[in-house]
Amino acid sequence: MRIANHNDRAALVTGEAGAERVVDVEAASGGRFGPDLPALYRDWPEFTAWARDRDRTADAEHAAALDRALLGAPSPAPRQVFAVGLNYRAHAAESGFEAPDGLPPVFTKYSSSFTGPDTTVTIPAGGDVDWEVELVVVLGRRGHRVDVEAAWSHVAGLTVGQDVSERVSQLRGPAPQFGLGKSFPGFSPQGPWLVTPDEFADPDDLELGCDINGEQVQQGRTRDLVFPVPALIAELSRTVTLHPGDVIFTGTPAGVGLGREPRRFLRPGEHLRSWVGGIGELHQTFRAAADGR
Ligand code: ZN
Repeated sequence: MRIANHNDRAALVTGEAGAERVVDVEAASGGRFGPDLPALYRDWPEFTAWARDRDRTADAEHAAALDRALLGAPSPAPRQVFAVGLNYRAHAAESGFEAPDGLPPVFTKYSSSFTGPDTTVTIPAGGDVDWEVELVVVLGRRGHRVDVEAAWSHVAGLTVGQDVSERVSQLRGPAPQFGLGKSFPGFSPQGPWLVTPDEFADPDDLELGCDINGEQVQQGRTRDLVFPVPALIAELSRTVTLHPGDVIFTGTPAGVGLGREPRRFLRPGEHLRSWVGGIGELHQTFRAAADGR
């Protein structure tokens, strides 16, 4: 099942690639679910049971062509956002670190940086803006001290994310400023929609990558995560209570600009395409700050 945030309304996505349609959840459920996405995650088990058993012959009545310009982040207002650093060995190595033994560094991306999948992103003046394609998890159940074996049952679905990162402000100062350096406006594009875990032959082995103007810069597989999705949920929930709608950026594979020799960052006019197999693509075009600030 695919669920989108279409024009700030929850929608089921149907149809083939390039000809997707959206079925408005509130209309199709007679007001039982939707239109708000946050409420949908709170009712996730009931919603998915309804969506699976619904009368699909009625879909057409509540369906419209999917307009990518109207797509927002699948979970646009999470209570908590977690992002994980150094979670692929090759990326840890290119960053000059050993792969972590215990839980990798955890930080946040402030939700004001969230957008849908197709956007134009402003490069802050004097900034070195880098790319990090990531598998993003949205949770569908509350949990504290979740067992690793039960962790997938806490996942509402998976989506594509870019952990866009401004390295000057991220790395300046006596200690790194991960949260701020990764939270400029538009720095957390996600989408194009959420795909439920049952749609994947193996949700622990998805291919992901990104390219700049058609040149591939990252390519990896989630089977190489140091802490795979279930382990991340188990480890994070040893400390915090996880809530429905919470978002986890699971980490990026090798190939970021900071790890290159020479270093490379996004320039005005460049186009970044990011993808996860079985989910879809993000498209970001970068521009200079108009006022030089
Ligand atoms: Zn990242």
